[in-house]
Amino acid sequence: MHKFDLKSMDIKELENLLISNGEKAFRAKQLFKFIHDEKGDRIENLTTFSKDLRSKLDEISYISDLKIIKRLDSNLDNTKKYIYELEDKNIIESVYLESFANNTICISSQVGCKMGCEFCASTKNGFTRNLRVSEMLDQIYMCEKDLNKKIDNIVLMGIGEPLDNFLNVCKFIRILNNDLGHNTGIRNITVSTCGIIEGINKFTEENIKANLAISLHNGIQKKKEKIMPISKMNKLPELKKALINYQEKLSRRLSFEYIVIKGVNDTFDHARAVKNMADGLDVHINLIPINKIDDFSYPDTTFEDAERFKEKLDNLNLNTTIRRKQGEDIDASCGQLRNNYLKKRP
Ligand code: SF4
Repeated sequence: MHKFDLKSMDIKELENLLISNGEKAFRAKQLFKFIHDEKGDRIENLTTFSKDLRSKLDEISYISDLKIIKRLDSNLDNTKKYIYELEDKNIIESVYLESFANNTICISSQVGCKMGCEFCASTKNGFTRNLRVSEMLDQIYMCEKDLNKKIDNIVLMGIGEPLDNFLNVCKFIRILNNDLGHNTGIRNITVSTCGIIEGINKFTEENIKANLAISLHNGIQKKKEKIMPISKMNKLPELKKALINYQEKLSRRLSFEYIVIKGVNDTFDHARAVKNMADGLDVHINLIPINKIDDFSYPDTTFEDAERFKEKLDNLNLNTTIRRKQGEDIDASCGQLRNNYLKKRP
């Protein structure tokens, strides 16, 4: 029998479910709060509901959770990496990062990824399926329970392309932002995309004022296509138009993520190309020295290499920082932890 996944449902959907089972609409807010604010994981613990109602709900629905398969703790800082097993035995990962300002989690939005970015381990085993809303929320809730900490900054920059799981990601953001639930500020939610123009336009239409981070990695069209094949269908001039429209409509600042690969995308021409993309936009550029991954032939790039590229961007008056590496001793690029686990799994 199909059971309703309560954690994936918004208040309106919960209301409909309760009303169709002869209950009052106001119970939906109590149920929503129980799941998303109190982190209730068993319907039987919802004691504001009668015993009869709880057993009826138990028959037709469930509250999801994830199984933590493994947690790696950094000895250098408080970074933690999680491997989770989903109900259907698929594997995903997320990373918890701590700073003075906030507690951040970087979560996955899909099982695998179909975008094929050359430098990314997440795509090496192909794409399996989109994550449900509850599976994205559970990465946050399970981590909070495990560490007994409140997470206040959410980044969709783990495995998967969030805008390729558009409807679930939009619903996830709205549920997360709801003040009866987790109540994460919309400005504390960042969606990272490899530059899917259709997704950016839809995101703009939906008027979701979360932060948008664009994986640029190369501002020269032909060279970008080599490392990010998806750019063949999402050309830089059209991407820029979509970003201008996004900024005009939502007045939100953008960031460009730029993995610096020594000798590949760090010349003066590349700096000029970034400048061309940034002109006319309010954008911050985050440089990330590339991590080595298996099956990837480019050389390791040091912090000093990234600093040299930053100087070139600084000279063009671009607002740039180099992302501080955290959890270097447990480091594995996005998706690599999962891949290593899958290789060893019986
Ligand atoms: S960088 Fe992002 S979009 Fe590209 S393959 Fe990796 S997960 Fe997918």
